[in-house]
Amino acid sequence: MNWSISKAKIFSKCQRKWFYYEIMARKNSKDKDRFEAYILKQLGSIHTWRGKIVDQVIENLLVPEFNKSNVPPFDKIETFVSELMKKQLEFAKLRKYRDPKLTKKKAGDSYCALREIENSEGLDNDSVEKIKEQVIISLKNLLQSELMKILLDSNIVLVAQKNLNYKFQEFNIISRPDLIVYFRDEPPMIIDWKVYFFRKENARMQLGIYAIALTESISTDPFQKPIDDPTEIRLIEYQLLKNFQRNYKLTSSDVCNIKDYINISSKDMGKLINNKKYHEFDINQFKMAYTSESCEYCNFKSLCRNKKVKYQVNLMKFIND
Ligand code: SF4
Repeated sequence: MNWSISKAKIFSKCQRKWFYYEIMARKNSKDKDRFEAYILKQLGSIHTWRGKIVDQVIENLLVPEFNKSNVPPFDKIETFVSELMKKQLEFAKLRKYRDPKLTKKKAGDSYCALREIENSEGLDNDSVEKIKEQVIISLKNLLQSELMKILLDSNIVLVAQKNLNYKFQEFNIISRPDLIVYFRDEPPMIIDWKVYFFRKENARMQLGIYAIALTESISTDPFQKPIDDPTEIRLIEYQLLKNFQRNYKLTSSDVCNIKDYINISSKDMGKLINNKKYHEFDINQFKMAYTSESCEYCNFKSLCRNKKVKYQVNLMKFIND
């Protein structure tokens, strides 16, 4: 079973949603409800899309150039953004993410599933243009930031979107930091890009989990230094749209608190799973969200409100799937 900070957040807000997301959703299932849960799991809003585009541009265009101490010309960046958005929008409009034969790997960077399109909420050109403008602003802010001095240093190695996994009891703890900066003579730095205007929560917990993961997982440090103390890792949350950064450093007591959080959250999940197979679950064991605001933008609303689906989950105990 996998545990990550995003899965833990879903679990703490709505166990029912976590059930759909983590247990029910299966792409290759013959059960059409499980396939539907998989499709709904893929959907994101255009605001989530904005963040993903920024991440992809940084990972696939900027980081390879930064690693050569280069900055690509800005018109090349703008063309990259336009082409990426265009092909993803086309993919989403054709609802290709619903094609059971098409894998994410095969779709590559065209893959995109937008809630506004799936739910026919409407997505006009102005909204798309606004998102593009905000992507461009975010990237300009990055290129003009103080951080660039570090990112262009020829004595460092940048690694974007690296999966960091380690075992904790029966859970596989998974993390994927936006950027790890490896220094020749210093402990690494982890950077998380944020691309939104209004959310207030800070990224201390998220970055702390990444720092612990970096010390617990198999080292990928190109300079082959041991990384064993999360309190030495510099952590940066960069708000690209609002153009400011927050710096964090963990204390020993932060590390204990974060490990406690992982322990408690994964134990709570483990109690509900209790070694059961999918058809042995009773969906009523999974508590629903306490507040209706949590349901407003929930991807699984259609499954959650469909009593037939709920009963199917209960009654299909003896089907092998
Ligand atoms: S609609 Fe509400 S109760 Fe149902 S899964 Fe989503 S958040 Fe939970």
